[in-house]
Order: sequence, then structure tokens, then C-alpha cells
Amino acid sequence: MTTTVKIKDKLFELLVPAEEISAAVDAIASRINADYASKEPLFLCILNGSFMFAADLLRRIRVPCRVSFVKYASYAGTKSTQYIKNLVGLNEDVEAKDVIIVEDIVDTGLTMSHLLTELSEKKPATVRIAAFCFKKEAFQATFTIDYLGMEIPNAFVIGYGMDYEGYGRNLAEIYQISDNQYPTSNTSTC
Ligand code: 5GP
Repeated sequence: MTTTVKIKDKLFELLVPAEEISAAVDAIASRINADYASKEPLFLCILNGSFMFAADLLRRIRVPCRVSFVKYASYAGTKSTQYIKNLVGLNEDVEAKDVIIVEDIVDTGLTMSHLLTELSEKKPATVRIAAFCFKKEAFQATFTIDYLGMEIPNAFVIGYGMDYEGYGRNLAEIYQISDNQYPTSNTSTC
């Protein structure tokens, strides 16, 4: 397996292999299937980053459910801008529904807080959060992640839906930005 990938000007090192990702998604799906056994949740997936986690998770969901999408932008390059822009708004009727938000990564938590505020105005019955990665050290919000894949270090990551300047979303593994920005024989270009 390639352990280092180069995207544009940056090198990234393997952080989470695909098998580990799959096991974490299995665990989240089992919990949701048990918790929502007599319910019909609405999965609200945050684009673009959550598309891969959402696809993997939803293929494992065995309760009747609906799926919808919202899109925000808060990252520029490798840094959060602390400013949330609505790109695709919340058009779904969520009143009295059991909503599960699906997010690739919670970093500062500002994007999620923004959606939680928007959602609460529409009076859903319940709202829970499924997030694949969590950067605990960067977190500035107060909400709880109900279904978490894994905690990761406070470093910029790509792969499994997450990008660097639009590239790297297709990678089946998660890679972390490298401290050493010099290519080795184990480096592939994406
Ligand atoms: P937050 O609002 O929690 O700071 O960030 C949430 C959004 O920022 C995520 O949905 C994701 O799109 C982006 N993001 C946060 N951390 C990373 C990261 O390490 N890598 C990438 N590619 N995107 C990130």
C-alpha cells in the first residue's frame, strides 16, 4: 500500500487504512440500526466531504430511511476560514422527524453548530450526529457527537471524501499532512 501521496504541492502520510475505516463504519451502522429499529430517520448529509462516509454508512442501514443533503463551505486550502457559507440550503421538511446529520469531520465544530441552529428552527423531533472523524483539540463548540468513527490528531487530513484544493476525495484511506514535505520512493501522485 502507498504510504505517502502527493497532491499539488503537498505530501500526505497514511493515517487510517481502508480496513480500519470499514470497521468503524460497521460499528456506527450497527448502533444506528439498533437505536432506530422502530423509527424512520432522515439522514442529512453535509456535502461535499461526507459523500463517501454517507454512501458506506447508508448501504449498511437496515431501517426505512430518507436521505437528503446540505452544502456549506468553511475551508480554504488547509485552513478553516471561521466563516460559514450556505451553498445548498436545508429544503427538506424536518418537522417532527428524527434527523441524523452525517458529517465527514468535525474540526472547530462551527459548521455543525450552524446546521444545528438552522435545524432547531424547523422543529425536528430529534437530532443526532454521525461524524467519521473528530479533531478534539480543535473543537470550539459544545454539541456531542452521538456516533463517532474516530478521534484524529489536530492536523489537516485528506481522503475518504476529504480534499485538498478539490483533490484527494477519491482516496479510500485517510492521509494526514506530512511534517516532511520531501517525496520518497513510496510516494504516489494523486
Ligand atoms: P468545522 O466547521 O468543524 O471547523 O469544519 C467542518 C468542515 O471543514 C468539514 O466538513 C470539512 O469539510 C472541513 N474540514 C475540517 N477539517 C478538515 C481537514 O482536516 N481536512 C479537510 N480536507 N477538510 C476539513
